[in-house]
Amino acid sequence: MNMNFRFDIPTKLLFGSGELNRLSELPLPGSKALIVITSGRSTRSNGYLARVEEQLDKAGIAHTVYDGVSANPTLHNVREGAQLARSEGCDLVIGLGGGSAMDCAKGIALAAVNEGDLWEYTWSKTGKGRQFENKPLPVIAITTTAGTGSEIDPWFVITKTETNEKSGIGYPPFSYPAYSIVDPDLMMTVPPMLTAYQGFDALFHATESVINKHEDIFAEMFALQAVGYVGKYLARAVKDGSDKEARTYMALANTLAGFYMNCTSEHSLEHELSAFHPELPHGAGLIMISKAYYRIMAERHACDGQMIKLARAMGMDNADKAEDFITALDKMMKDCGVGELKMSDYGISPDEFPAMMRNAREMGGLFGADPTELSDDDILRIYKESYR
Ligand SMILES: [Zn+2]
Repeated sequence: MNMNFRFDIPTKLLFGSGELNRLSELPLPGSKALIVITSGRSTRSNGYLARVEEQLDKAGIAHTVYDGVSANPTLHNVREGAQLARSEGCDLVIGLGGGSAMDCAKGIALAAVNEGDLWEYTWSKTGKGRQFENKPLPVIAITTTAGTGSEIDPWFVITKTETNEKSGIGYPPFSYPAYSIVDPDLMMTVPPMLTAYQGFDALFHATESVINKHEDIFAEMFALQAVGYVGKYLARAVKDGSDKEARTYMALANTLAGFYMNCTSEHSLEHELSAFHPELPHGAGLIMISKAYYRIMAERHACDGQMIKLARAMGMDNADKAEDFITALDKMMKDCGVGELKMSDYGISPDEFPAMMRNAREMGGLFGADPTELSDDDILRIYKESYR
């Protein structure tokens, strides 16, 4: 455990029921906003887009909409959105929706003011690791889901469809959203299965942070609290979407987990599953591989103390061994109705595992955060054990 830490989160967070109605009262950093939403219908049909536009009108901010973001935002989405931002003279980007809309908004905010293609700035296999010259346009993140934590962190994930690559990008501290609005009223309509997938995504951001070998004492505090709230409230939010208390605590869990997202290679392994099969929700992919991933950690006694803390945070008060966390995880999956997810239902084939393993390795640094080193064989074992 690292006892040295820095606390430096520049995002101003507005949390709680009704906070979206206060957007117009903020000193908004721009005069014309590009509102970024997904190509699905829900942001419009639930009235969220109209509410944001009304707030901007009240504040005297002009606005235009980019509504082309895919479920896993693509490089093509970023290019289109950045082009629109430039041609419309936007000086502010608002990501309204789940992780896809917010991630894409962050990408657009950087791509709109930096030379060349955004992909050149990634460290992925076909990227160039180029340095950003200019700070991004300011971003306001308004989340409509309790997953991803994107509203409070400087990172975003973009898919390059042509090469099946996903890359995490960011330009901290500049790419932190200027403002983040987490209003659980916007999450009441998320369907049960998506609620579960997103909740598990938040859970794994926190659990990976806790076992991360670079974890510090301050970040652990946030992560364990997030794990506790997910353990207590996710199943309730899945069973009854109108349970406002459960929705509010899940929103808080997600934001707490997002504050210090120190992911390990569990996330790299999942990003390949959904890079090869974009219809697979990120949280569902994490659920599929998680038990095999943590089983290796438990077998090797790589982080017994941290896994015991996780099991206790999830409500197993008498936990005393690393495996207890896997037992708690298994129970939560069953309680949330996601215990039977199958890779084969999403068209994933074991033949793809070696290529996924190589791409995951090339995606970068998260393997160095694991509490034990995973070999290529270990990675293949995780994929194979998880396959159904
Ligand atoms: Zn995630």
